[in-house]
Amino acid sequence: MSVTDRTTTPAATTSTSATPAATTPGPGTPEVAPQPRGLSVRDVVVRYDDGDTGPTTAVDGVCLDVAPGEVVALLGPSGCGKSSLLRAVAGLEPPVAGSVRWDGADLAGVPVHRRGFGLMFQEGQLFPHRDVARNVAFGLEMAGVGRRDRADRVERLLRTVGLAGYGRRAVSTLSGGEQQRVALARALAPTPQLLLLDEPLSALDRSLRERLAADVRRTLVETGTTALFVTHDHDEAFTVADRVAVMSAGRLLQVDTPARLWRRPRSRAVAEFLGYEAFVVLDDDAGADGAGGAAEPARAIRAALVRALAVPDGGVVPDGGVVPDGAAVPDSGAVPDGGAVSDGGAAAARAEPSSGAVAALARGALVVDLAGGRSAAGAHVDGVVQGTTFRHGRTEVAVDVAGVGSVTAVAAGVPVLAPGQRVPLRVDPDLVAVVPG
Ligand code: ADP
Repeated sequence: MSVTDRTTTPAATTSTSATPAATTPGPGTPEVAPQPRGLSVRDVVVRYDDGDTGPTTAVDGVCLDVAPGEVVALLGPSGCGKSSLLRAVAGLEPPVAGSVRWDGADLAGVPVHRRGFGLMFQEGQLFPHRDVARNVAFGLEMAGVGRRDRADRVERLLRTVGLAGYGRRAVSTLSGGEQQRVALARALAPTPQLLLLDEPLSALDRSLRERLAADVRRTLVETGTTALFVTHDHDEAFTVADRVAVMSAGRLLQVDTPARLWRRPRSRAVAEFLGYEAFVVLDDDAGADGAGGAAEPARAIRAALVRALAVPDGGVVPDGGVVPDGAAVPDSGAVPDGGAVSDGGAAAARAEPSSGAVAALARGALVVDLAGGRSAAGAHVDGVVQGTTFRHGRTEVAVDVAGVGSVTAVAAGVPVLAPGQRVPLRVDPDLVAVVPG
């Protein structure tokens, strides 16, 4: 594993105008708080005014930090403002309010090419008349790097992105995935202090995307690259990033490590975006769908969830730093560890209580339990089989559960389950998150 040394790479010097002069406080000079290192986005607003439709606020007061060496994914549905934020950071779209800083220096007025940032897009970035090596070498040529150093760096990068020996190939002979690997190597060649990636894998098919996402992660970590990675795909975001910033309608809903985001989504909106497919209000007095409807049909599933999660009766759950949906959330702090967190759903649910809450069920949160169905009172809930599919070596069972509706349960092996059949289901607490009500 090699880590790029930024201090000795000639092309890493393109942002001199954005770097603050080092100052040492003299005697009597008040101590100045140390400037945060890396990217710091504060209260940024991006607005478009195209006349016909009136102004569109694409980014609405976003705060986000990316620490040196950290990879942050900006995750949200199409049109939520991800590209606009990325463009504001790149200098392609001037924000109408707020600031973008690098190592504490305000980048307002610093043009794109002087920020020292790299850019990578979905497709169509390679020069067709240059071979692979000369595409990768492009930024190094521009920076005046000598032939020998260029060749060494190109060879190293091609190895890192899994294209050793491809240097002389014409780019037109490469697959879509290989072309994006070349584009990544090319973006990394000048050792950008920040790499901005805008849906770089979206044009590829699903299985290739999954493989490449893991390779992009490995490459960014191996090269010690600080990166902001825009995607609408939560699996991709979770694979690539140390932290994920969930964006909706121009605002950040939550910024957290993948594990914490999955375990403790701050709101139902975040949970829905992550793919949690059903919601059960744990409070007896409310309805099953959060709309305050009749609780009676949901009584059994609620009891099973309360038992599995060990939530005190009444749906009292821990306060996970609750913010109302749509509120701008300050960044939760740069934690470039990418490591797992230990607070599981059930453990979290036993922590200090706050108000009523909702259980969010992921696919597979309910498990068909044909053998043990009646053993423990309240541990199981009945569901009616709607259909089955065999995926990833297990059976997924669409079941209708009273008070919840259709959810995707799982069953071990390949059981014979007929549509209309009533089956006992138990709760897998690892696939249930407790979301503030
Ligand atoms: P995302 O990257 O999440 O798909 P965008 O940042 O591209 O979202 O777009 C956010 C909003 O801003 C959308 O409503 C989009 O239509 C609008 N928008 C983006 N670019 C422009 C533009 N150049 N002119 C006007 N509206 C724009």
